[in-house]
Order: sequence, then C-alpha cells, then structure tokens
Amino acid sequence: MAKEYYELLGVSEDASQDEIKKAYRKKAKKYHPDSNKDTADEEKFKKINKAYDVLSDEDKRKKYDQFGKQGVEGHAGRGQRRAASNFQDLFEQIFGGGGFGSQRKRGGKNLKIHTTISLGEAYSGVEKTFEVERKAKCSECSGTGAENGNTSTCSECNGRGQVRKVQRTPLGRMETAAECPKCNGSGKVPEEKCSNCDGSGTEKKEETVTVKVPEGVRDGQRLRVRNKGNRSSTGETGDLYVYISVEEHESLERKDHDLFTTVTLGVGDVALGTSVEIDHPDSNIQVDVPKGTQPGQVLRLNGKGMPSRRGRNGDLYVKVDVEIPKDVSEDQREVLEGMRKKPKEDRSFFETVKDFI
Ligand SMILES: [Zn+2]
Ligand SMILES: [Zn+2]
Repeated sequence: MAKEYYELLGVSEDASQDEIKKAYRKKAKKYHPDSNKDTADEEKFKKINKAYDVLSDEDKRKKYDQFGKQGVEGHAGRGQRRAASNFQDLFEQIFGGGGFGSQRKRGGKNLKIHTTISLGEAYSGVEKTFEVERKAKCSECSGTGAENGNTSTCSECNGRGQVRKVQRTPLGRMETAAECPKCNGSGKVPEEKCSNCDGSGTEKKEETVTVKVPEGVRDGQRLRVRNKGNRSSTGETGDLYVYISVEEHESLERKDHDLFTTVTLGVGDVALGTSVEIDHPDSNIQVDVPKGTQPGQVLRLNGKGMPSRRGRNGDLYVKVDVEIPKDVSEDQREVLEGMRKKPKEDRSFFETVKDFI
C-alpha cells in the first residue's frame, strides 16, 4: 500500500523522527504561502503539514502505518479542530516564534518563552511571572527616535507619510500610494537622533510579565500575551507566546480532559469491597470499590478529570488490579481452600448406568 504521507515528505517508511523533522522543515519552507512565489503552494503546504502532524507523533504514525488515513482521521469535529489549532503551533515550534506570520506585522517580532507546570497547576490554573528581555519603546524619546522628542517634517513626503509609486504592469501604468520609506509613514523625522536608542525608537528592556495560565491547560498549548513581543523601528509590537509543558504526574495519566490511574488491591479487598485513596490534583479523593469487583475492571468517576473550558470536567478512570498472594498463612489457606472452585459433579451418567446393572 502506497504511503502517501511518507511520499509527501520524501522519506522512507522507517525514517527516524529526526529525518522526518528535517524533511518537513525543508518542504514546508519551500511550499509556504509566504515563501518564494515560484514554489509557494498552499494546498501542498497543508498536505505536508497534515503528513507531519501524523508522522511526528509515534502513536498516530503507528495507526497510520496499520490503517492508513482512516486510522488517523476517524474522529472528525473535535480532532480536526485541534489539528487546525496545532497547525500554527507546529509551525512556530519549528521555525521559531518570529515565523512567517509575524513578519506581516511589519517587523514587530513575536517572542517565545517556555514554562513547565505541574498537573496540579494545570488543574487549578496558576499565575506565572517571567522576566522577559524585549525590545520596547525607548523611554528617552517615547519611541519617536528623536532627541528630546524634537522632530521636523519629512522632506521625502512633505509630511504626508505616503509617496506615490509608479509601476508598469501588463495593464498599463499604475500609480499606487506607498508608505514613505524615510519616515515610515509618520511624516516626521527626528531633528537629531535620540542618543539612547540611536534613532531606532526602541531599547532593550527587562520586563516583568505576569501570565494567567487557565485551569485545564493542555501540554503543548501556547498562550498569547498581546504586545509583549519586540517592538520594531516602525512602532509595531509583536506578541509574546508562552508555551506550556505539563509535567507528568506520578500516578495519573492524562488524555484530553480525562485522567487515568491504576490501583492494586488484595483478593479480600475486591471480594468484600473497600475504599481507596487516589492521589488527585484537586485533593486526594476516596474511591469506593464495590464488592465483587473483577481484576481489570475500570471504575469511572464522573467529573473527576481535568477542568474543561466547555464547562464540564473530564472523568477519572480507575483500573483495579488484583494481587494474588504468593505465600499464604495457615488461616488464609483455610479460607482459600473453602473458595476452591469445585467441579460440578454430574451424576446423571451413573444414574443411567445403574439402570443397566
Ligand atoms: Zn516621509
Ligand atoms: Zn530613543
């Protein structure tokens, strides 16, 4: 069976993650809609991203290898929306926060930082404070780039901020208005360059930024803090992106908003029923294990998973393992002997034989 995703990236089916990433990087750059016009191809770009989304995730890759596209496209709706939102994330992870998108903001560059939080913090939400070094508005000239703020009218555009550009096109001469390159559209130029920022209007500053990480935040999610990226000389300011990693929990595993754990109980516990304490990010909770619980049985606790923005928490799933004792005391032996499964005796055969005797 032809493996389209491997072909899209131009890698073999046993390619390592490193090879896949490298191949993706190359292809994505080539076909990105903002890249070189000769090669830009949005449709192809999307396909490449889809291929990478699957092959870069070992779980999805395995499913794809086994079942093809159907194996990874089964869940429409939620899954696909998530794929779309991951799309830009993925791109920025690989090309850095300043990726193609932010260049449209005329040089205001996005900044990217990373933080790791515990599952407990992800459960209840947390406020994080960062020291961020960023290019900010020059405090001496308020971003004008002019010493003491003294500016004069730009001679290039006579203060209009725009210049006319004449272009020859197949349809004839076209006159368009363009931003004045000398004053960057402000119509004013510094009389004397600000000595603090050398006329750029920006200076490096260490700034304290507080970010509210919402409850239920996922591993790999990014949060945007508007206008806390780098300021460009034209006065545009990028955004700050905070990438969140959620630490693995000792005993709980998370999948979307649900939590999973396993408890190991004794034969007596499951036979007679018991109550166990589960280490939970909220606070430890007691789970009732009903009598007669079978090995491998999964108990589901509604709403005891992670908070979700859709208003309903995920669930907590507790799998019950049963430990069979390797050694037993005399007392236990007696009890267990009584629990032996006796083969059902079928007397009917003998009854029948008796008739013949
Ligand atoms: Zn000008
Ligand atoms: Zn300045």
